[in-house]
Amino acid sequence: MAIGLEVKTYDLFINGEWTPSESGETFDVYNPTLGNVIAKVAQGNERDVDKAVSAARKAFESKSWRSLSISERSECMFQIASKIAENAEELAFLETISSGATIRRVSSYDIMSIVDLFQTMGRLIKSYVYSETLPVPPYPGPAHNFIWREPVGVCAAITPWNLPLLIASWKIAPALAMGNTIVVKPASYTPISTLRLAEIISEVVPPGVINVVTGSGSRVGEPLAGHMDVDKVAFTGSTEVGKQIMRLAANNIKKITLELGGKSPNILLEDADLDIALPGSLFGVFLHSGQLCESGTRLFVPKSIYEEVISRLKELTENLKVGDPLDPTTDVGPVISKKQKETILFYIQSGLEQGATLLCGGKEINIPGLNGHFIAPTIFTNVTNDMKIAQEEIFGPVLSVIQYEDIEDAIRMANDTIYGLVSGVWTRDVNKAYEIARRLRSGVVWINDWHMLRNDAPFGGYKQSGIGREMGRHSLDEYTEIKHVHTSLVPELKRRHWYKMLFSNL
Ligand code: NAP
Ligand code: MG
Repeated sequence: MAIGLEVKTYDLFINGEWTPSESGETFDVYNPTLGNVIAKVAQGNERDVDKAVSAARKAFESKSWRSLSISERSECMFQIASKIAENAEELAFLETISSGATIRRVSSYDIMSIVDLFQTMGRLIKSYVYSETLPVPPYPGPAHNFIWREPVGVCAAITPWNLPLLIASWKIAPALAMGNTIVVKPASYTPISTLRLAEIISEVVPPGVINVVTGSGSRVGEPLAGHMDVDKVAFTGSTEVGKQIMRLAANNIKKITLELGGKSPNILLEDADLDIALPGSLFGVFLHSGQLCESGTRLFVPKSIYEEVISRLKELTENLKVGDPLDPTTDVGPVISKKQKETILFYIQSGLEQGATLLCGGKEINIPGLNGHFIAPTIFTNVTNDMKIAQEEIFGPVLSVIQYEDIEDAIRMANDTIYGLVSGVWTRDVNKAYEIARRLRSGVVWINDWHMLRNDAPFGGYKQSGIGREMGRHSLDEYTEIKHVHTSLVPELKRRHWYKMLFSNL
């Protein structure tokens, strides 16, 4: 148990070393399950950001990382994966006590997936096309033309509190795999697992390749996203802050990838196998107390099976065990903070006020012995797609069930959102599922499943859910610049007739 743990103090991690912050200030990190302080972490500021960016720049310029051969860098990715696996238990524990993720999920899925991610990137860079040769052009004169892929340079990652280790890794792994260096700013609710991850990675990579500056969005995130010597910023979090990141990135026209919010539609067809589709849909929305950007928060159900579906959903939901995430029998842990709990309760209230019917949950739960933030998994029925609870990202364990007349109606409502991260369809008719999948405006479509991310497949959103893709080969593209190199094969001046554009009598 976390009770009685010493309160550890963490400095910033810059240039391979624990580095005190310029201000000497710290902030407290709380356990969302028990409510106690678990760490005191350095509060960075603009000067710390400068220091980390210049360490990352120096590491990039020194070539000690980017000039490694592809097989050497691939080997490093595998070494990082092994070191993460060796430290799996500690990382899982830090993740659970700070983010409230159930230990069952983190130790069986998150850490394994991160290990696999670094290995996948280590493999993918070996088959990556770094250089293409174009055919010799007949006009205006013969030439050799190459397209080269090169690292972007110094990257910044700004990450949220919901999946601290996974989301940081989705940025760190492709960035390093392509020879970049990086400065990470984790969310202030959950910096400790990321700090430890960076320390582990730094056992493999040269100093300055990975740096972590902790502190608030305004004191660290803004100067980092706006920094004139950062070449790329990758952000995951709210759409609102994503827009600010874009504005800040405009300072020096940084490359950006943004992975933002969602209000993902989940369409149940009449012929779905309900024995799988119903637990599957709840898995899609209640995992991690609904604090996942890809949660399937709007469930579209046809009239013909509506009553059966809602009564079975209620029973399954009421059997979920809410409690201490360190207890391996717990299904649903706490939400991250008192503030997040209040936001969720505000949305529940708005559902009631706008006329939705509360099927189950809908309230805070007090668990004896725990002083954290728990919300009962909540289902609203009789929701219409224009209600606040169907349009705004709640980021809590709240499902909105919406009845539909026919599939055209369902697809129209599914797409009637500012977001476009993921969607889902449940049916026994795969052809029908593909037809619907084509029409859903989102970066991922799950058919008869949910949360099935793959480290070799792209993840990211349409519309206001983001820009760019993480994971897979496409994420490697996001961490490269493209260079075209032209070599003229025309040795005589007089054959360079195109120079006549300037010199009339050449
Ligand atoms: P957020 O404000 O978007 O925070 C995400 C990250 O950005 C954190 O590291 C945060 O730092 C940093 N940040 C905040 N303001 C910034 C700024 N002006 N410039 C640069 N960086 C900045 O998310 P949140 O406040 O934690 O959560 C609010 C809502 O966002 C949630 O209720 C949920 O709807 C959504 N959210 C979505 C995702 C997702 O995966 N798509 C993840 C988390 C939250 P600090 O927190 O340390 O200040
Ligand atoms: Mg915020």
